Amino acid sequence: MIQKNEEFEVDILDMGFEGEGIAKINGYTTFIKGALKGEKARIKMLKANKDYGFAKLLEVVEPSEKRETPRCEVFSRCGGCNLQHMKYEEQMTLKTNLVRNTLKKSLGYEPLVEDIIGMVIPYNYRNKAQYPVSNGKIGFYAGRTHSLIENERCYIQNTLTDRLAKDAFKVTQKYEISTYNEKTGEGLLRHIITRVGVNTNEIMLTFVTNGEEFPHAKEIVEEIVDMYPTIKSIVQNVNKENGNVILGKVCKTLYGNDYIEDELEGYRFKISALSFYQVNPLQTAVLYNTAKEFAALTGEENVFDLYCGIGTISIFVADQAKNVFGVEIVPEAIENAKENARINNVENVDFICGKAEEVIPEKYKEGKKADVVFVDPPRKGCDMKLLETLKEMQAKKIVYISCNPATLARDLKYLTDNGYEIKRVQPVDMFPQTSHVESVVLLEKI
Ligand code: SAH
Repeated sequence: MIQKNEEFEVDILDMGFEGEGIAKINGYTTFIKGALKGEKARIKMLKANKDYGFAKLLEVVEPSEKRETPRCEVFSRCGGCNLQHMKYEEQMTLKTNLVRNTLKKSLGYEPLVEDIIGMVIPYNYRNKAQYPVSNGKIGFYAGRTHSLIENERCYIQNTLTDRLAKDAFKVTQKYEISTYNEKTGEGLLRHIITRVGVNTNEIMLTFVTNGEEFPHAKEIVEEIVDMYPTIKSIVQNVNKENGNVILGKVCKTLYGNDYIEDELEGYRFKISALSFYQVNPLQTAVLYNTAKEFAALTGEENVFDLYCGIGTISIFVADQAKNVFGVEIVPEAIENAKENARINNVENVDFICGKAEEVIPEKYKEGKKADVVFVDPPRKGCDMKLLETLKEMQAKKIVYISCNPATLARDLKYLTDNGYEIKRVQPVDMFPQTSHVESVVLLEKI
């Protein structure tokens, strides 16, 4: 029996879903963060479960030629990136294979999966940063724990707003704003969030606070806006709940508008603090163009855009559809979507706020149908009630956009068992340096 703290020299045979190296010690599967396939490594057991264990990488004895020196000083401790030690081409191969293997396992056969579309410069791509604040510090969570890792700069964030988050925090500390303590539930400031429209340079700054009061808010806002004049919006979001959910339901505008605007492929989008917006704008254009190409609309179709956020996909495809019906659960996002249709002079779209799995079965019962359905659910995938309605409705095409291959594979299994075939699968790298994978899938009615 392998014990905690035991040391071994192992060959890394494979890579796991989160970019960990996998070794076998006399058949015992061990996951090692930071080790690459093909390497020989010295490891120390951190945790030994019955069937598998986790080990710390002590030394790479024989490095792989796929290894890259991580740019970030806190890479090995921070829970944000997990692939910076791997050359970008290899990251892309890993993700393409991950989609291939996950789909194959669930479907029982391997559909044709194109190579992932990557970025030319796979750094500084994120338009949104969410920094936890705790015990007088700002940083990112370490992997799997909530201890804070401070860092000078984050190599995947937009450079300007990465700096803004830390400068804003310094200003709050000058005014002695207390920081949140998860254990006691005390302290005011919980998170600092920045978001930038990279094509408009408009910036939003959000302070998430554990209570309505915000002492010295006026002076704090003035100092920050003096330093960063392209800030268009500063928002206070109140979240008094314990737990991992970052944002509360209530927002107060402290400065400027309660939204920023971004521009994407000639369209303008208003985005509120509570609304979802894709985090990698360069790749978002690739993602949406792929989805639009897969749908191959002719102008005659009734289209559903489920999990529509601020209406980006609806508005993007409206010029090739008869009409588009978008459904989204967050009221502020639906307000943005309606306003976005108006400012882009798009008239054949309609948005409704609600759960896709409730709105769509209801509307279908009333006789509403789609010829083409876009679904872009969160990580947990589509709800069964929605899939059942899609099965009954039998739209000609379903374009499934997914940020989680595991739930994608599960939902594709259901749809292919119920009247659909997979025509195309295109992964898009929205999250370089991390093991997250986005995919677009075209399903057609058989
Ligand atoms: N298509 C959009 C948003 C995708 S993110 C875009 O590309 O920007 C997924 C969205 O689904 C989020 O906006 C989230 O608020 C929303 N959502 C989560 N659960 C939902 C549900 N059950 N019904 C409808 N929308 C939901």
